[in-house]
Amino acid sequence: MTDRHDAKRWQADTSAAQALGWIDASTQAVAPPIHMSSTFLRRADYGAGRAYIRDENPAFDQAEALLAHLEGGAGAALFASGMAAATSVFMALSPGDHVVAPRVMYWSLRKWLLGYAREWGLDVTLVEMSDQAALAAAIRPGRTRLLWVESPANPLWTLTDIAAAARLAHAAGARLAVDSTVATPVHCQPLQLGADLVMHSATKYLNGHSDLCAGALVTAQEDEAWDRIRAVRANLGAILGSVEAWLLLRGMRSLFPRVRQQSTTALALAQQLARHTAVAEVLYPGLPEFPGHAIACAQMQDGFGGMLSIRHRDGRAAALATAARVELWQRATSLGGTESLIEHRASIEGADSPVPGDLLRLSVGLENAADLYADLDQALRG
Ligand SMILES: *Cc1c(COP(=O)(O)O)cnc(C)c1O
Repeated sequence: MTDRHDAKRWQADTSAAQALGWIDASTQAVAPPIHMSSTFLRRADYGAGRAYIRDENPAFDQAEALLAHLEGGAGAALFASGMAAATSVFMALSPGDHVVAPRVMYWSLRKWLLGYAREWGLDVTLVEMSDQAALAAAIRPGRTRLLWVESPANPLWTLTDIAAAARLAHAAGARLAVDSTVATPVHCQPLQLGADLVMHSATKYLNGHSDLCAGALVTAQEDEAWDRIRAVRANLGAILGSVEAWLLLRGMRSLFPRVRQQSTTALALAQQLARHTAVAEVLYPGLPEFPGHAIACAQMQDGFGGMLSIRHRDGRAAALATAARVELWQRATSLGGTESLIEHRASIEGADSPVPGDLLRLSVGLENAADLYADLDQALRG
């Protein structure tokens, strides 16, 4: 196994394609072996070395090193799911701590924050994260420990100015964590904009094939807060399996060409759908008329991601009927796979969802763009 690729010499897509170019020292294998051992031989003096799988699984090393490399972080940690990664950040705080999160964000995490996290003792404030004045007013200097940002945020694709949020957080003695699942390291590097932590649902674009569940955190610094998060992972045991870590690394090798293609198709679809008579509004960061477009241009590169939403002119029932009529798009939740998915979020999220009933969320896959548009067009026309 060799060291990391030199970030100054090779581009990020080069390092991803070769998964940092590691070679297995015992066999010269180019693709890594799958480590399954749960325990490791200790030296006679019980000195340094791995002890046990729960906190030191070597099956994680290469994927964690690659992700830290792509995000420009000091370290990374894989988790059993995106939710395990995200909740570990909050569980590493103390009861009584104040946190600020977006009003509209990934649904399951929002539900957990307003339910379990509050019962556990976290003081949770939800704000309109794209509104800097509202965010500044929600922060309580000395009491707020964490700002949680999702950008672009599910399912309205709201942009948050990450650099400005980092300044606000740090001025108040808080840390900034960014759920960058939708942007991926292809389009955004939150740590370079001042964030302290980046979270990914690796179930989505990082793996990219809708065939495993995984999560990840990347830290700007391996400090005490990071040690606490790693301890939560080890102690609560929300660890990924070795085979899943291997599959994730395989998926990450093609991250750049997949995501670039998906973003190119998403932009083309957004432009076409914006002219469709059945569509009242297209929500996509790449459209100049989208409210977060200027921030997206400033903090995203090489495209605007593969996620967009459309609002049906004729309301909730028409949106549901559209989703019922698709023949190529798959009517399923999740995102970031090779197959395009359509979802009526309000139906999934239930009565207290902040998502409009006329909204359909689209995850753009790798199919032909003309096929994708034609299917949506016939479904919208009815
Ligand atoms: C899916 C998702 C999560 C949760 O990840 P899981 O892997 O499903 O636990 C968190 N944030 C975003 C933006 C997601 O899309």
